[in-house]
Amino acid sequence: MKAFHAIVVGLGAHGSAGAAALARRGLRVLGLERFGRGETFGSSGGRSRIIRVAHYEDPIYAPLARAAWDRWLELESETGAAILTRTGGLYAGPPDSALVRGAIDAAVTHAVGHEIIDSAEIRRRWPAFTPAPDAVGVVEDLAGLLDAERANAAHLLVAERAGAELRFGARVLEWRPAAGGGLEVETDDGTVAVADHLLLAAGPWVGDFVPDLGLPLVVERQPVCWFAPAVQAADVGVGRLPIWLMATEDGTFYGFPNDPELGLKVSHHHSGVSVDPDEVDREVRPADVDRIRAFIRERMPAADGPLTTSRVCLYTNTPDDRFIVDRHQAVSGIAFASACSGHGFKFAPIIGDILADLAITGETAWPIEPFRADRFHR
Ligand SMILES: Cc1cc2nc3c(=O)[nH]c(=O)nc-3n(C[C@H](O)[C@H](O)[C@H](O)COP(=O)(O)OP(=O)(O)OC[C@H]3O[C@@H](n4cnc5c(N)ncnc54)[C@H](O)[C@@H]3O)c2cc1C
Repeated sequence: MKAFHAIVVGLGAHGSAGAAALARRGLRVLGLERFGRGETFGSSGGRSRIIRVAHYEDPIYAPLARAAWDRWLELESETGAAILTRTGGLYAGPPDSALVRGAIDAAVTHAVGHEIIDSAEIRRRWPAFTPAPDAVGVVEDLAGLLDAERANAAHLLVAERAGAELRFGARVLEWRPAAGGGLEVETDDGTVAVADHLLLAAGPWVGDFVPDLGLPLVVERQPVCWFAPAVQAADVGVGRLPIWLMATEDGTFYGFPNDPELGLKVSHHHSGVSVDPDEVDREVRPADVDRIRAFIRERMPAADGPLTTSRVCLYTNTPDDRFIVDRHQAVSGIAFASACSGHGFKFAPIIGDILADLAITGETAWPIEPFRADRFHR
């Protein structure tokens, strides 16, 4: 008898959720993570991720985000962890920007409650912002922030409670079909584990595990900064400020209400350079901060306090910015995901379920056609 039914490679947002999904279904799960528990060299670290339903990138995300919202609440009930804070969302920019048009499109297509307001009304509601005079704001109620560290820990807790074995500091070298059937996974300490099902959720490194599929993934260095508020902290805290995205001539910026310990998180979405995830410069450089500071001075002076902290995170992007979530067509029992492009965290409970479905049965009831890996080669 094999010691495990399923092996999960990578315990970031999606691997953790996948391990939880498999373990909930009664499978004996082995989770393997290259770095330490809670370490953040992939894409899932830190405290805050945005969850929004009127997803400007593509209307296909709205139903998934709604479902994910409910799943995060269920995970809170299941584990007692405080993960989701509802703040509402503001998506502001020129009326013809992809951000504003896309958010309205998603909201209208999927009957997501929203309001459209002008620049003066944005300033009146949230004096922290100074949008351009011609800016338009899409305001969404069903938006908020997810505590990423707690979310991952909660999924791991669910997996472990259901009997999963999780190994940290265990770098997977390769998988191969096992001579006696099933799939063999080898780690850098020389251990070989065998199981029937394999979930590949290695984030920026996932392509290394399915080189034959030629996944067109590009990893992007993404600096993130926190600034002390230049106004009363209470005026820009949770309950006062929504999560927000703002499109400008210099690109799209986003941020969160003030975190009492860290400050106001502000980042320049998709501003980074393409990198090798093993070689990336993990230091935030003055030029990284200057770009964000220039935005703050023009459009969010309330965040113009001293830089309090910063870090470099990784986006894993596809050419069409849609996720890749699929099963291996040539080897049964294997599912893999690259659900990032800078907006994948919120979907983790759903992606975990999809991965478990695909690894166990090869099929899923979730609508994953837009995420199939072979779309780039069709
Ligand atoms: C700065 C930033 C901001 C973001 N903001 C948002 C947001 O507001 N809202 C949102 O929805 N999404 C957001 N995202 C995207 C989201 O965080 C990612 O989509 C998500 O975290 C991806 O999770 P993952 O599990 O696929 O990858 P990862 O978190 O990278 O996890 C992969 C794991 O695999 C492990 N691994 C790799 N190779 C091996 C190996 N050989 N052996 C064992 N383990 C291995 C890695 O160590 C890693 O822990 C943001 C991302 C970044 C970087």
